[in-house]
Amino acid sequence: MSLQSTPTVPEDHILAVYNRAPLAFERGVGARLYTAEGEAYLDCLAGIATTGLGHCHPKVLQALKDQADKLWHVSNIFRIPGQEALAGRLCEETFADVVFFTNSGTEAIECALKTARKFHWANGQPERIDIIGFEGAFHGRSYAAVYAAGNPSYVEGFGPPLPGYVHLPFGDLDALAAALGPTTAAVIIEPVQGEGGARALPEADLTRLRALCDEHGVLLIYDEIQCGLGRTGKLFAYEWAENATPDVMCVAKALGDGFPVGACLASARAAKGMTVGSHGSTYGGNPLAMAVGLAAFNEICRPETLANVREIAGYFTQALKGLQDRYPDIIAEIRGKGLLVGVRLIPNNRAFMSLARDEHLLIAGGGDNCVRLLPSLLLTPEEAREAIEKLERACEAARRKAAA
Ligand SMILES: *Cc1c(COP(=O)(O)O)cnc(C)c1O
Repeated sequence: MSLQSTPTVPEDHILAVYNRAPLAFERGVGARLYTAEGEAYLDCLAGIATTGLGHCHPKVLQALKDQADKLWHVSNIFRIPGQEALAGRLCEETFADVVFFTNSGTEAIECALKTARKFHWANGQPERIDIIGFEGAFHGRSYAAVYAAGNPSYVEGFGPPLPGYVHLPFGDLDALAAALGPTTAAVIIEPVQGEGGARALPEADLTRLRALCDEHGVLLIYDEIQCGLGRTGKLFAYEWAENATPDVMCVAKALGDGFPVGACLASARAAKGMTVGSHGSTYGGNPLAMAVGLAAFNEICRPETLANVREIAGYFTQALKGLQDRYPDIIAEIRGKGLLVGVRLIPNNRAFMSLARDEHLLIAGGGDNCVRLLPSLLLTPEEAREAIEKLERACEAARRKAAA
């Protein structure tokens, strides 16, 4: 990394932890992003499942502007009516009784893991500290979050491993049954893995997971930061399964439609250890974030939004299977759930993303050599067809490249 007072390229002063596409945008409307030169791109990644209602959704934008004129920040040492309103709505729509607001997904994960350990401590079982996670998971970038997920490349070089983290193969519930024991605090899982390449856990496995946790007195934590908030066609991905409600759940990403808002939801029972002074945040739950979050959440909850996700997802599944039939040399597998679509490729996924960009289509990468389609939940059928046409041209280009 070269740090110079007069950079040769403007990126020189940005810590080089991202492999960025050579592309910048000036504005966005719905599923469309525009460069400063006015070139339009079809956005099928939505800030990695974050601008869930598309860019500059009118209701969310209005809520932001109205609140910006009134009050941004006061501190959690005061009551914050917007927080009480959004917490009330989140609890109304889920298993939860209480909510802690954060600025990011990672912070929601931190809160969840602390809540789980503190629960057992408050129950007189301080030896229960182990957090069991699954390979391919992504839970964020704090120390606790990288150890909860266990991705070797995210923990390498950062000092001695944190104690109390266990990792099992993805979806291996027999291994889980064997691993659950007297020192286990919680199991953490994404019902549909995002960064891991859009891998959905079978619905019946979520039910079994819940039963196993109950049997062993262990808390179940869902990371629905990517797969929640309408992404799979239900408000939360766990709702597809019977008897599979968690004790604690993390949400973020789409909650603010691109404005930083996260939340850790918990049942009253699971939250029993989290008493005054045990956790906190300066910005978490500030009035501006809450106004945006409330507007976005109410839009996501609309039956029309969820119905659109199911309709567009159905079209994508069918159209992508068609593409796979025509390009078996390019597409190996279609997977995921709802509008968390994974396409496992034969050519390199990064190279394919660049070919898609040449067609002015934006898609995300993912584990297992996947690309992910994570468009706005409000994507129209016309935009969905356009995305498939662009993908087809990218497949054609990938085939030409392979032959050259
Ligand atoms: C993005 C993501 C996180 C981390 O959220 P940040 O807001 O980046 O801290 C955690 N878990 C999952 C499943 C995610 O997709």
